[in-house]
Amino acid sequence: MADIIDGKAFAARLRGEVAEGVAAFRAKSGRAPGLAVVLVGEDPASAVYVRSKHKACVAAGMESFEHRLPADTAEAALLALIEQLNADPAVDGILVQLPLPKHIDEMKVIEAIDPDKDVDGFTIGSAGRLATGQDGFVPCTPLGCLMLLRDRLGDLSGKSAVIIGRSNIVGKPMAMLLLRESCTVTIAHSRTEDLPSVVRGADIVVAAVGRPEMVKGDWLKPGATVIDVGINRVAAAEEGKTKLVGDVDFAEAMETASAVTPVPGGVGPMTIACLLHNTLAAAERRETIG
Ligand code: NAD
Repeated sequence: MADIIDGKAFAARLRGEVAEGVAAFRAKSGRAPGLAVVLVGEDPASAVYVRSKHKACVAAGMESFEHRLPADTAEAALLALIEQLNADPAVDGILVQLPLPKHIDEMKVIEAIDPDKDVDGFTIGSAGRLATGQDGFVPCTPLGCLMLLRDRLGDLSGKSAVIIGRSNIVGKPMAMLLLRESCTVTIAHSRTEDLPSVVRGADIVVAAVGRPEMVKGDWLKPGATVIDVGINRVAAAEEGKTKLVGDVDFAEAMETASAVTPVPGGVGPMTIACLLHNTLAAAERRETIG
C-alpha cells in the first residue's frame, strides 16, 4: 500500500512559515505585503477561488485588494486597472483570475502585469526566466507539486519524470521545474501514442489533464511517486450528490505506487499556499530594490 502525500498538512506548514515571514516584513518595512486579485464576471468556480485567496491572504497577515468587475468590462478598462495596480506601492502581487470573458485577450492582460508583481508567474518574461534557469516567479500549482516531490524524495536528480498535460499554467512549467532538478523529463499530451507505456517508465508521474481517474494502476511503475493535479467533479454513489476526483484512479494507484497525492487534500491546498509564498517574495524583493 502506498503512502498518501498530505498536501493539506504541508500547505498549512507553508502558510505558517509565510505568516512568520509577513510579521518580520511588517516589523522591518512598516507595512504588510499586498496582493491584488482581479475577477471579471460571475464564474462560480472562479468566485470560490478568489474568496479562498482573500481569506488565506488575510489569515497570513497580508493586505488583500479585491477587484470585482462585471462580465462586460471592456478590455481597455481592465488594462487601465492593471496599470493602476502596477503603479500602486501598496500592491506587491497582481493576480488576474482566469479564464477571462471571451471578448478579452487573456495574453494581452497578463502581459500588462509588471514582471516584478507577476506572482502567478504567467507572463512571457516569467516563463522565459524559468525556461532559461534564472530566478523569477514560478506558477503556483507546479511550484506546490515540486515542493511535495522534494519533501517526499529529496534529491530528484536523474529520476525519470512523465508529465501528462502541456498547458502553460501547469504542464509546461512543471516540466521546466523538473528539468531544473535534473530529472529526465517527458511531456505527454492528448496526441501521445500509447500513453500507458510512456507513463510506465516514470519514477515520477504528474497528471494535469482534467479527465477523471484516467491514469490506471497498471500504467504505473511499481514504487512510482504520483502527483495528481486534476480536479474533476463527478457523480457520487449517493444519488444527486457529486464528489471531486483527480486524473488518477486513486485506489488503483495506491496498490502500485509508493506515494500518491489525494484529491482533494493533495495539490489543491498547495496552490494558494504558494501564491502567498510568491507574494511575500515579491514584497521582499521590491523592498530590497526600493
Ligand atoms: P488544460 O485543459 O489547459 O490542459 C490539459 C492538458 O491535458 C492538455 O495539454 C492536453 O494535451 C492534455 N490531455 C487532454 N486529454 C488527454 C489525453 N486523453 N491524454 C493525455 N493528455 C491529454 O488543463 P490545465 O489547466 O493544465 O489543468 C489540468 C487539470 O488540473 C484540470 O483538472 C484542472 O482543474 C486541474 N488544475 C488544478 C489546480 C490545482 O490547484 N490543484 C490548478 C490548475 C489546474
